[in-house]
Amino acid sequence: MPDRPADDSVERMEFMLTLRRRGISDQAVLRAMDEVPREHFVEPNFLDTAYADNALPIACGQTISQPYVVAYMSEQLGVRPSHRVLEIGTGSGYQAAVLSRLAREVVSIERYRTLADTARSRLTTLGTKNVEILLGDGLEGAPLRAPFDRIIVTAAAERIPDELVTQLGPDGVMILPLGPHSGTQELVRLTRTGEGLKREALIAVRFVPLLPGRAREL
Ligand code: SAH
Repeated sequence: MPDRPADDSVERMEFMLTLRRRGISDQAVLRAMDEVPREHFVEPNFLDTAYADNALPIACGQTISQPYVVAYMSEQLGVRPSHRVLEIGTGSGYQAAVLSRLAREVVSIERYRTLADTARSRLTTLGTKNVEILLGDGLEGAPLRAPFDRIIVTAAAERIPDELVTQLGPDGVMILPLGPHSGTQELVRLTRTGEGLKREALIAVRFVPLLPGRAREL
């Protein structure tokens, strides 16, 4: 890419190599991962490790997900250019930025005002126009904007949020980390079919908890 400083190109090459080595093969997902500058979404004191394959702390005690998990979830979601996608848990805005390159439109909900505002301004700086960030309780989804072709939950749910299932369109797919708030969860894919919801277990993951209501703190 033309305007990238030369000194981070090795890191970024390794970043892409790691994703391929770990099995990410969807070209559109790989392109999106290559295009979105992750350093733009991490806290200034973690700039050095922006391209390491780790989750990192962000404001409000939350985390920006590990790049592999972002790529894996994006791939398993099967996003097409015509799709409208709902994300629960904007956090840094990184996953939303990746999805914005794969989908027609992304609606992302965050319960912390600070995170929602920061993510919104980051995406504006990057010139991303097809992401709408809403402040609110993601457990309620975005009924006025439903149905969605794809729903991605990026915080750990102890049970399947019923309201989100109702906002999934025909043939819709939802991916969410399901399991206890402490420890690991199972990434689960739900597909709406003619016969009902199909459920598949994917990989083990570790996410911060999906909590009800808007955060009382900023
Ligand atoms: N997708 C993010 C990672 C988010 S971490 C990224 O790419 O950086 C999970 C986020 O979910 C946190 O920011 C947390 O505040 C948010 N969250 C947890 N419960 C929520 C809820 N009920 N509604 C909206 N956001 C929620």
